[in-house]
Amino acid sequence: MARRVAREGSSSISHKININSLVMQAAPAVRLRPSKRAQRIILRADPSSGCIIATYPEKISQKDVASFIQKHADWIEKVGTLLPPQPNLGHGGSVLINGVPTPIIHTPTSRQGCILTPNGLSVSGLAEHTESRIQRFLRDMAKKNLPVMLQEEAQRMGAQVTKVDIRNVKSRWGSCSRSGRIMLSWRLIMCPPLVQSYIMVHELAHLQHFDHSSAFWEHVDHFFSKGRTGRLAAERWLRQNGPALLRVP
Ligand SMILES: [Zn+2]
Repeated sequence: MARRVAREGSSSISHKININSLVMQAAPAVRLRPSKRAQRIILRADPSSGCIIATYPEKISQKDVASFIQKHADWIEKVGTLLPPQPNLGHGGSVLINGVPTPIIHTPTSRQGCILTPNGLSVSGLAEHTESRIQRFLRDMAKKNLPVMLQEEAQRMGAQVTKVDIRNVKSRWGSCSRSGRIMLSWRLIMCPPLVQSYIMVHELAHLQHFDHSSAFWEHVDHFFSKGRTGRLAAERWLRQNGPALLRVP
């Protein structure tokens, strides 16, 4: 999601305040983040939490923070409607697995744990544990499948991968180091296979070109099975669907 930010300079002293009472009920929650380094109040939409984050200099007054937020209530409400909703990971909800919307079926009395069935993802145990069980299931699936897929792509591209880490990161889909170490977000397991492949080809191409130069993009488009058009489609998919995937806890 594009950064949506409101700024204004300010000065003075203090700490916490119940900001949410200041904006209308339909608006997203505003989280306060006092900062030593902030020079002014900044409001930022955070797709992963569905909140607006208000960063402000520690020495600013509660009154100033409150009035800034109140002044931007319309902006907060408008941006709030663009933030992805909290996904329903309980019975009747659904989750993307390899890009396929998969119904969640809570089966409290079964002892099978979390398993994929032709009807959906069956989750046993207490209802309040459904979310964490699904997350563990997806992470395990990611740890099992993504490294295999990455090694296949690496072989195809003639790239040397020294280590693959599947991590719980919300800031990026993947990253790489010059030593050939690749990190992938477990949330990639929710994306369609072509998007997974694109992220992998992107990171592997960085082992040849440690930048985003035109040579890098040529390298990506040459090795990505769907070429440039497919790459643009994958990036579009991530822009449109990525923020909602970040809301999966
Ligand atoms: Zn890159």
